[in-house]
Amino acid sequence: MEAGCSRCGGNGYVTLARVDSAVAEICGCNAVCRHCNGEGYVHVEDQRGYVFAKKCRCQALVTRIERFNQAQLPSLYHDKLLEYFEPLGGNQREVRYHAFKFRKEFAVGGRGILYWGGPGVGKTHLMAAMVRYLTLELGIRSRFIDFFHLVTDLHRQWKSGKSGASLIEPVIEIPVLAIDELGKGRSSDWTLDLLDEIISKRYNRRLTTFFTTNLTVKTEGRSNVVPPMPAEKAALTESLDERVGPRIHSRILEMCEVINIYGPDYRMQTNSEGGR
Ligand SMILES: [Zn+2]
Ligand SMILES: [Zn+2]
Repeated sequence: MEAGCSRCGGNGYVTLARVDSAVAEICGCNAVCRHCNGEGYVHVEDQRGYVFAKKCRCQALVTRIERFNQAQLPSLYHDKLLEYFEPLGGNQREVRYHAFKFRKEFAVGGRGILYWGGPGVGKTHLMAAMVRYLTLELGIRSRFIDFFHLVTDLHRQWKSGKSGASLIEPVIEIPVLAIDELGKGRSSDWTLDLLDEIISKRYNRRLTTFFTTNLTVKTEGRSNVVPPMPAEKAALTESLDERVGPRIHSRILEMCEVINIYGPDYRMQTNSEGGR
């Protein structure tokens, strides 16, 4: 691993945008570990003089990279870091500050974050950056899903006579789940039952879940960590509780810190990438 490597900046890994999802891989400068010569283990001697094989520390990086790849972040978000989240206005500066604090204090099984706000204010960027950090830096098993895609995939499986358990089980049991675009699309009874199953099981097991939504989230009686959008400016969009029903809604609010983001649309500013 080279401290001055221009490809990985000394991290020893790089992330890339593949067709299906973001992937991470060991950087060429780190291809052969100098501690174990790429064997994956080193020989150490204990106090009694016995020599035994011990996992080399490079294997921790291999695990973290696996975690990142299993998370299936969207390709476009492979290099989204919290450090790159540039506040443009609105309350984006406060939201970024909150995210840094949240990340520092993160505990597996603790509350997640529900980011809500209009399109392009940075919700998905922030959530993807969180997943990237939790996998690549902390090695926590995580999964990112677009709820709309999950529903479509499940529907296809059920129609072809499969149970869909292979799709839904991993989403229920994963320690950290990030659900993008909650409430997007038409909510059939079938979709709501699916969402209820995922949320209820994760709620009962106290698993950490993150969400983003374009819908308005009503948080009456809850203290807001970050000042929300002034009421007079709030667009009168449909609310999340109307879309998912009061039961799922109140569980989600219990599972998360609720953060409203508002400010300029990144996609308008940069014309291409930037946060969604
Ligand atoms: Zn490198
Ligand atoms: Zn090694």
